[in-house]
Amino acid sequence: MTRTITLIPGDGIGPEIAQAMRRVVDATGVDIEWEVVDAGEAVMAEYGTPLPDHVIESIKRNKVAIKGPITTPIGTGFRSVNVALRKALDLYVNLRPCISLPGTGARYDDVDLVIVRENTEDLYAGIEFEEGSNGASEVIELCERLGAGSIRRDSGISIKPISVTGSERIVRWAFEYARANDRNKVTAVHKANIMKHTDGLYLDVARRVASEYEGTIAFEDRIVDATCMGLVLNPANFDVVVLPNLYGDIVSDLCAGLVGGLGMAPGANIGDEHALFEPVHGSAPLHAGKNEANPTAIILSAVLMLRHIGENAAADAIMDAVRAVITEGREVTYDIMRTNTGSTAGCVGTAEFADALIRYIEAN
Ligand code: NAD
Repeated sequence: MTRTITLIPGDGIGPEIAQAMRRVVDATGVDIEWEVVDAGEAVMAEYGTPLPDHVIESIKRNKVAIKGPITTPIGTGFRSVNVALRKALDLYVNLRPCISLPGTGARYDDVDLVIVRENTEDLYAGIEFEEGSNGASEVIELCERLGAGSIRRDSGISIKPISVTGSERIVRWAFEYARANDRNKVTAVHKANIMKHTDGLYLDVARRVASEYEGTIAFEDRIVDATCMGLVLNPANFDVVVLPNLYGDIVSDLCAGLVGGLGMAPGANIGDEHALFEPVHGSAPLHAGKNEANPTAIILSAVLMLRHIGENAAADAIMDAVRAVITEGREVTYDIMRTNTGSTAGCVGTAEFADALIRYIEAN
């Protein structure tokens, strides 16, 4: 049965890497029809918004989408399309697997962990009061009146809400992911010793949810700073790692660094109804239009997408091709070549890297 999937190419290097991804996925023979829709600055003039309704409608209809990065211009009042999509579709899970591939020059060759980041609350809720504003003064006075503590008058304030609902659904999702993907342990990360009513709440909920999986999936909790040190010293100790939004953002980039950098890091934003797959990196404008960006991250995002829709054979075929071509190290993009050899000499372009993957898929 043909499966229709929304494809948002994005801008900057987006269209080139999305095209490479599409050719590689099609080479597996999987029956996908791509519904291509555009978002971002380029559609502003035509629709008056960077995220036209028909883009959201397309994802709602197809349930599954994959996108390239979209530039967020600074200081124009242009709302981030990426954040808006996550909100509009209630994509509360940000999934970022980190797996070492031989040949990427990564620091470790035994990393195989999954970051599950909460995507909707915490300091990212966007509830902020500018220094000197009436709102900031009122919050400062309220805290004093309630005896909660004193805040310097010249402070800006960001609110950190963490709810039982938000914590429960993300931790449960992490355990269900572990169960469905034969993973053995979930680590909940927090700073509950300092923030008792937010991270402490998150930890209480995590322990309660974990007790339902006792005997099947192991559980541990770790303080975020100790987690960072543990990840750098011995990442093989980690399996599924579930974190509130801010720690998740920071720790997942740390993990991307352990396995070869942003060009290698896939991601997915998932809700109960819809899933949107995308690389972790941005639109890398300096590399745009030059056929030189590394499409591995969006191709690995497509692997996640294929597994999500049950196309495991196609996902395995792509994974094998990525492993083989990168391990061989001959037809790789500039960034991989540079980490491996210290020079970009002999590297290939985005399209030629995709050609090498396609040749491997067709030959195996
Ligand atoms: P970036 O990820 O675009 O680039 C950071 C550096 O990483 C660049 O110097 C580039 O050399 C390198 N890089 C990134 N992807 C690469 C690839 N595939 N191949 C080779 N090298 C790669 O981050 P940035 O410069 O901070 O952001 C640029 C724009 O992208 C901003 O407007 C930002 O808002 C946007 N952005 C979008 C998304 C998204 O769409 N989800 C995510 C992050 C950033």
